[in-house]
Amino acid sequence: MSGKQIPLAGVIGHPISHSKSPILHGHWLKTYGLAGHYIPMDVAPDDLEAVLRTLPKAGFVGANITVPHKEVALDLADTASDRARQIGAANTLVFQPDGSIHADNTDGYGFMQNLRSGAPDWIPADGPAVVFGAGGAARAVLQALVDAGVPEILLTNRTRSRADRLKEEFGTTITVVDWLKAGNVVEDAELVVNTSSLGMHGQPELRVPLDGLQPGAVVTDLVYAPLKTRLLETAEQAGCTPVDGLGMLLHQAVPGFESWFGVRPEVTSDLRAAVLG
Ligand code: NAP
Repeated sequence: MSGKQIPLAGVIGHPISHSKSPILHGHWLKTYGLAGHYIPMDVAPDDLEAVLRTLPKAGFVGANITVPHKEVALDLADTASDRARQIGAANTLVFQPDGSIHADNTDGYGFMQNLRSGAPDWIPADGPAVVFGAGGAARAVLQALVDAGVPEILLTNRTRSRADRLKEEFGTTITVVDWLKAGNVVEDAELVVNTSSLGMHGQPELRVPLDGLQPGAVVTDLVYAPLKTRLLETAEQAGCTPVDGLGMLLHQAVPGFESWFGVRPEVTSDLRAAVLG
């Protein structure tokens, strides 16, 4: 690559047309007046390794990785951050000058930054958090909550064995609660997090009884389509602090953009508006 090559980055998934990342990074490139391009790339699983080995030779400085490639991308990388290893998946790759691939996972970081910005008064050490769901997103949330020092995490999932596995991996502060009893534990919570896909457009609603929610608790939903889920509406009516999931998407993009394009970008209301279209 010549010294004058404009840096390229993008998001790799399969499919990819739904991804908001090109709008997000495009907005920052324009805002900061940087030379660079960020493009969506639809790559089938069988082609992922070849594509990742080729991109650095074509002027790419890195890439975001989304469904279904996050776990394989971590395996394919030459080095990885501790948080990517803990989560067991990569969402951000940085191509190093020597041609090696470094994997990171910024989802837990994005989750925490969004929470801190939407609920600045929430103190992690103050009390239990309840987490719904035990899929890929839950792994990032658990990594972030454990890291932040939340004293007790009550984890509940439709398929209990998946929650049990996460408890084994993420440690002793986690207690698994039966899905049918999830409503009983929200009354103890300082923080409630939905990491399941329930409540998303095209999915069933989250039906956990929420009448025990304590006013003052913080309630956040990773689902951001719709932006105001029924969980967040209920939380607002109960006097809780609702934090929507769009900010997590915006904040998780910050470290990647900084590594690739050399400027640490800000998450602003203009960015939110651009991504919401
Ligand atoms: P995933 O790995 O497929 O996990 C899906 C989770 O939802 C599992 O816990 C699953 O339970 C649960 N679930 C699905 N259908 C259910 C149903 N009918 N009843 C009860 N539970 C059900 O997905 P993911 O990657 O973790 O993503 C989960 C959600 O988070 C998605 O809506 C995604 O868009 C969102 N997300 C948002 C951000 C952000 O930046 N805001 C980032 C990542 C993900 P089982 O284990 O029982 O199947």
